[in-house]
Amino acid sequence: MKLTSDIVIEKAKEIGFDLVGFARADELTDEKRKLEEWLSRGLQAGMGYMERYIEKRKDVRNILPTAKSIISLAVNYFTSYGYSGKNDSGKISRYAWGKDYHLIIWEMLRELEAWLKKTDPDFESISYVDTGPVMDKVWAVKSGLGWMGKHTNVINKNFGSWIFLASIITNYEFNYSQRIPDFCGTCTACIDACPTGAIVDEYAVDSNKCISYLTIENKNGIPEEFGGKFDNWLFGCDVCQDVCPWNIKFAIETNKEGFNPAGGNTEIDLYEIMKMTDEEFKTRFDTSPVSRARLKGLKRNAGFLIDSKKNG
Ligand code: SF4
Ligand code: SF4
Repeated sequence: MKLTSDIVIEKAKEIGFDLVGFARADELTDEKRKLEEWLSRGLQAGMGYMERYIEKRKDVRNILPTAKSIISLAVNYFTSYGYSGKNDSGKISRYAWGKDYHLIIWEMLRELEAWLKKTDPDFESISYVDTGPVMDKVWAVKSGLGWMGKHTNVINKNFGSWIFLASIITNYEFNYSQRIPDFCGTCTACIDACPTGAIVDEYAVDSNKCISYLTIENKNGIPEEFGGKFDNWLFGCDVCQDVCPWNIKFAIETNKEGFNPAGGNTEIDLYEIMKMTDEEFKTRFDTSPVSRARLKGLKRNAGFLIDSKKNG
């Protein structure tokens, strides 16, 4: 059977995706230029992988030669839990409270792609969830899922920015989605609230200053200049998203059980981390995004927060 946009949307929603959109697989000339400018300013910090596969990022036909479209998908992960505010508790970014989203979304993608291929054996695809050389956010914007906020997260009018993105590159053609205008307007709440001044220009984050980068991807020490500025963020940081009016007004509870905090993983006692063994870490964070920082990284972050309190 021939697939249509409506058929894909219906099936994707049945599987549990909250947003679905379609974009023509054109070359991303402007976006490549912006990426190269961002890289030339060194704003990627230690994320050397951002410099690789630029030609694939620019043109998805360098990944799937028959590509005609991108199907962009999003899943709402907002849950209404919060933090205790305890002085010795390190906060974990909301996206990492539950089960690793890669595991949840890959499973959903596998089911969707298998169904699409079964429905039309000519359907070819390659899919990604926040990994691989695909500009997920750019495609989400082109597919009408939302607009790029000044904090560089995609914002949807119904869900805010608490969404995980996935992309399916396919040889199929669809009815393409309308782009959503940029509704940031004159707001600068995220820029004003960022504790380290990491949003250096509208739509440009300097990873060298961003708490999310410094506590997760960063393989080195945390520079002393940030002492006292982390507000107990242990793994990631949500300040720019927490203050966004679109999240304050429109965030709604996810219907995915897996995104609820597992084992109280919204925060962890800093001294508990300093004593944690590899075995305890593995047991607690085996299927959590927190495992990405490894125990060594978590101890570095906890140690930094403890020292900042002593010195501040
Ligand atoms: S995640 Fe935190 S540190 Fe990074 S840009 Fe947003 S508010 Fe700033
Ligand atoms: S806080 Fe304001 S400027 Fe920042 S992303 Fe949200 S709407 Fe846009």
